[in-house]
Amino acid sequence: MIIFLIGHDFKYETEATVKLFFPAMRFTFCTEDAPRQEDYIRTSLAGETILAESSLSGVFRRSEAQLPQHADKRTAEHALCTLLYEHLTEATGITPPWGMMTGIRPVRMLTAAVEQGSTLEDAVQAMGQTYRVSEQKLALAKETARVQLPLLGRLGPDVVSLYISIPFCPSRCSYCSFVSHSIAEAGKLIPAYVDCLCRELSIWGELIRRLELKLDTVYIGGGTPTAISAEQLGQIMDAVRANMHMDPVREYTVEAGRPDTITPEKLEVIRSHGATRITINPQTLNDKVLRAIGRKHTAQQAVDAFRLARSLGFANINMDLIAGLPEDTPDSFRDTLDRVIALDPESITVHTLTLKRSAALYAQGGSQIANPAAAMVDYSVRRLPEAGYRPYYLYRQKNTLENLENVGYAKPGFESLYNILIMDETQTILGAGCAASTKLVTPDGQITRIHNHKFPYEYIGRFDSLMEKKQQIDQILGGNSHGA
Ligand code: SF4
Repeated sequence: MIIFLIGHDFKYETEATVKLFFPAMRFTFCTEDAPRQEDYIRTSLAGETILAESSLSGVFRRSEAQLPQHADKRTAEHALCTLLYEHLTEATGITPPWGMMTGIRPVRMLTAAVEQGSTLEDAVQAMGQTYRVSEQKLALAKETARVQLPLLGRLGPDVVSLYISIPFCPSRCSYCSFVSHSIAEAGKLIPAYVDCLCRELSIWGELIRRLELKLDTVYIGGGTPTAISAEQLGQIMDAVRANMHMDPVREYTVEAGRPDTITPEKLEVIRSHGATRITINPQTLNDKVLRAIGRKHTAQQAVDAFRLARSLGFANINMDLIAGLPEDTPDSFRDTLDRVIALDPESITVHTLTLKRSAALYAQGGSQIANPAAAMVDYSVRRLPEAGYRPYYLYRQKNTLENLENVGYAKPGFESLYNILIMDETQTILGAGCAASTKLVTPDGQITRIHNHKFPYEYIGRFDSLMEKKQQIDQILGGNSHGA
């Protein structure tokens, strides 16, 4: 489809607005008018007049409005995109649930407004008016902010969290776009990878001591951390304990991930090394759906893994689900969610399927799949609070089915601090391992990111030069420390 941009250069926002209605479409852009036979969208700015026009399947429409007086560039851009949004809502009959909002952290917008002195009600109202967000999503964002605000008590600039990446999985799920490596393909790299990871943890430990920082939360994620052996997992968790002062740590999570990798030995390693929270991520409890996404385990294995963890004393377990998976239906999703609730985990995270180009499912034509994800998400928004779970963190991603969201729900007192902190972006997070990124937050709110290499062979092969790059962290974080 062609998009005409006449008299303005608001290409990025115009494209983002059009994509809300045509997510899988490819666009070409023209800055000069030319006659067209095929479908097109035209936006223009002339003096104080803004126009949105479209010709879609032979139907021509035109909308016109005036800019407010003395509008600056940002106001003009927002006004033009609002006109285009309303125009396309009418032309397509689609009303996106999050309205014109393209940002990934709507709740951060609310909590930031509250921190600057607004009431939550006013912040919600402003978000609804500015972005045309539906009442249902406004209520969800508001409740998430309400749960999150008391947990966001700022801890000071000398407090940091630690993320540890174990990028291996038993096999690759069809929807996965993460740089995860199957054990069969990359298994021989694991011993060298674990050695490098332990060296990186000792470098982080030394930096934490030198700058007199305090460790707040630790998250071992992946991939599937339990895809490696109990001994290797123990080696990594030993390195955490040996290099970090763990007393101030408020939360220590290990993503046990795929049920087919969970064994009594690995759970015992996790428990005995002081992890306080694990997540078991079946994504669905429907065997047909599990097969369709390339999982090699059954729903019963997920239930058994949960019961095993409980029997070994884990008192804070999260389970992850995904709405919109291939072969899933609203009925089978409802069945999954009800069965997960019956297991009584402390938290349940409901993601909506995101299709990125690197996922196998996308190559199979996944971008075209018609999907009842909205009905599934609606059920979870209604059902989980009834069962005692409150939404506590929420984020959106690009290319998510129907522009929906990912929401973590927890029983009161079991909200994951790490999940809140990663979205809040006000705490430094040190990343260890391949594909991990370190996010340094200075007291003035500036964020510097340092990315580790994406693939295990690069991380192992270029480990020394990567660690040299981290010397700059002392200068950036040095200003944060008590001692500096
Ligand atoms: S378990 Fe997660 S990281 Fe591993 S392949 Fe599946 S989606 Fe990707």
